[in-house]
Amino acid sequence: MIPLMRVQMSQAAPAGVSRVLGSGMIGQGPVVDEFEQALRERIGNPHVATVNSGTSGLHLALRLVTDAAGTGRHDDGGEVLTTPLTMVATNWTILANGLRPRWVDVDPATLNVDLDDLARKITPATRAIVVVHFAGYPVDLARLSAILDEAEAVHGVRPAVIEDCAHAWGATYRGLPLGNHGNIAIYSFQAVKHFTTGDGGLVVLPTAELNERARRLRWFGIDREVPNRGLTRADIPEWGYKFHMNDINAAIGLANLAETDDVLRRYRDNAAYYDRELTGVDGVRLTERAPDRESAFWVYPLLVAEKDAFVKHMTDAGVMVSQVHERNDHHTALRPYRALLPGLDRAVEQLVCVPVGGWVSDEDRRHIVETIKQGW
Ligand SMILES: *Cc1c(COP(=O)(O)O)cnc(C)c1O
Repeated sequence: MIPLMRVQMSQAAPAGVSRVLGSGMIGQGPVVDEFEQALRERIGNPHVATVNSGTSGLHLALRLVTDAAGTGRHDDGGEVLTTPLTMVATNWTILANGLRPRWVDVDPATLNVDLDDLARKITPATRAIVVVHFAGYPVDLARLSAILDEAEAVHGVRPAVIEDCAHAWGATYRGLPLGNHGNIAIYSFQAVKHFTTGDGGLVVLPTAELNERARRLRWFGIDREVPNRGLTRADIPEWGYKFHMNDINAAIGLANLAETDDVLRRYRDNAAYYDRELTGVDGVRLTERAPDRESAFWVYPLLVAEKDAFVKHMTDAGVMVSQVHERNDHHTALRPYRALLPGLDRAVEQLVCVPVGGWVSDEDRRHIVETIKQGW
């Protein structure tokens, strides 16, 4: 079976981990610092904070934008506009922060939020907007920013945007990696993402002030950068979490970061092959490819006719395919927030993702294309 996802692990990772294990320091230390410096350079933004998962990053981001006063109290009644087509972590963190998810419909052409629907749903109760760059294809961030300009002119407030970039390591919008467009961006370094630290995540921030607060809140609210912290017993102005990364995970990350360009190239090369071979094939539609952005293709999404038959046809041929994420709005835990979402209905009727990562060999990808071209 050709798997849909697989761990991409550098052969240099065990030696890096071994050095940390023998160093007498396995918590957050010099290797985390080194990893963060490498990430700053890679993303091109100095304001970054590693955390122990993408989910922790989302928790932290929502706290930063909905509790700006630092009271630590939940913002009861505030709404967060969000997508139902994502890993549940995106939406569980909204509930965990005492906020109400409000569904934005999904555009079947991109599998991202439908920005027309989003524009209609912004109200004075909107505290934040969470978008997911589905399968690594960037949301139209310039259009989103223009919508927020209009909303600000009408309501007098501008809701913060949090970009869930968990699928999108390496994706670019208008030539820049995600995390450089004025919003808070969260990456996940979970096992089967493009780039893993075992478990881990990254918060990329638009300002030095937000970064300073994020770095405090990720470790109990304590500022580690104050000298002689242990002696002076500096006051803690607001409570924080245990969300920091440790040197063991950072060592895995440093090893994998060194190979991430090669890994991404293989994902993109396979995606370009599918683009060429599958355009115009009966019963298959590709998603949008806008010239101002580059997808990371964490998986390769297709919109297919007769989806159940397609899934069986591919599985019988030894190719693992799936929708990847169930629609979140149908879970019992999210029942109170249900809404009419015709775009999402259409998308999930047809959406299937096929394997595209580095483990998909030339022979594998030919087999996948030929199997699709046979029909189902
Ligand atoms: C993986 C994922 C997350 C969660 O990341 P973790 O590092 O596993 O906590 C959040 N959102 C999306 C869209 C994801 O795919």
